[in-house]
Amino acid sequence: MDLYEHQARELLDEQGIPTPGAIFAQNSHEVAEAADRIGYPCVIKAQVKIGHRGQAGGVKIAHNRDEAVLKAESILPMTIHGHKVSGVLVAEAKNILHEYYVSISVDRTSRDYDVLATANGGTEVETIAKEHPESVKRLHINALDDFDLEAATQMAESIGFYHADTEQAAQILLKMWRCFKDNDATLVEINPLAKIGDPDDESSKQLSALDAKISLDDNAAFRHDGWKRFEDPIVSDPFEQRAREHGLHYVHLHGEVGVIGNGAGLVMSSLDAVSGAGEEQGTNIKPANFLDIGGGASAAVMAESLEIVLSDPQVESVFINVYGGITSCVEVANGILEASAQLNNAKPIVVRFDGNAAAEGLRILATANNPTIHVSETMEGAAARAAELAAKAAGKEEVR
Ligand code: GDP
Ligand code: MN
Repeated sequence: MDLYEHQARELLDEQGIPTPGAIFAQNSHEVAEAADRIGYPCVIKAQVKIGHRGQAGGVKIAHNRDEAVLKAESILPMTIHGHKVSGVLVAEAKNILHEYYVSISVDRTSRDYDVLATANGGTEVETIAKEHPESVKRLHINALDDFDLEAATQMAESIGFYHADTEQAAQILLKMWRCFKDNDATLVEINPLAKIGDPDDESSKQLSALDAKISLDDNAAFRHDGWKRFEDPIVSDPFEQRAREHGLHYVHLHGEVGVIGNGAGLVMSSLDAVSGAGEEQGTNIKPANFLDIGGGASAAVMAESLEIVLSDPQVESVFINVYGGITSCVEVANGILEASAQLNNAKPIVVRFDGNAAAEGLRILATANNPTIHVSETMEGAAARAAELAAKAAGKEEVR
């Protein structure tokens, strides 16, 4: 099993290998909070189980909170070399003086362990090996011999760590070895293992692991409680995963009224209106999800959104709250009718429009003769209607 960078750093951290402070975040809100705690500048790094993130635009520096959120929002929907981004790591940005590469892996042919290292780190080791083959050192740790500080120091010297780094490099090599053994890893790679600090202040310089890749031996999972702590968060909710694939902002809330709107503020108010109506009607009906379709609100986006929301078996009714802007409510109305027909939908949909061509859009829906589609002029009215219809379908009549 391959680990995400943030999980790999956790294991390095446990061995006392220096890594810059970092917090894992999965949405704008978490990123803002994380960045404020880490401080500025910070690095926003895509969490995917694949290398070359830097070149793919998945590693960016931010100098303040707004920049951190903006850069995270450009990275979170990304797919890098076929891998969907599962979140971002917000890490302290360090001043890099030099980049090394070090890895320990299983060598199946010689039945021992390979240490691969070079003073030309930063890029992928395959590239370094091609361009500067003489700089890449391959050393072995014998499976039966003890790899101790003396052996680690010898190794650090032969790798060519600059003199002042040798002692710390040896410590890190030893700790990498412990990380490798303790966790039954097949690979522990640090790239870059960077010399960081102020170029004019010798005492500030030190080695730090800025990126890490760790693979664990699946055959040893039983010895580690099945590695439950490393379960992939991206597959936890299938609805959220599907929405992410379509670039939609969706949060699963597990109530009965599906909510679709454009603009985060409008969708939040819609959620409050549904919860309020559920309380007032004494049914305790709640929103099933948050879904912000953003600015476009085209027919195609509406169809995708409706499909995702309606596929949730807990959803009994849908509340669509759209503010017509560049896309007029007439287009949105036609999108809703098309999608509803395409999906063979039987669940009630309550629509409220405001803005560009709102009245006309509502008229189209009202006269479409589709018994599942209801319209309302106000947000409160629409929310109340949607809550009422959901309660009826769920058999939760009011308890007064
Ligand atoms: P990868 O491309 O997937 O291997 O991602 P890395 O985490 O290795 O980041 C790629 C490159 O971004 C590194 O080699 C660094 O040059 C740069 N980088 C990463 N973290 C920092 C940092 O804290 N400060 C600076 N200045 N650059 C960084
Ligand atoms: Mn790297």
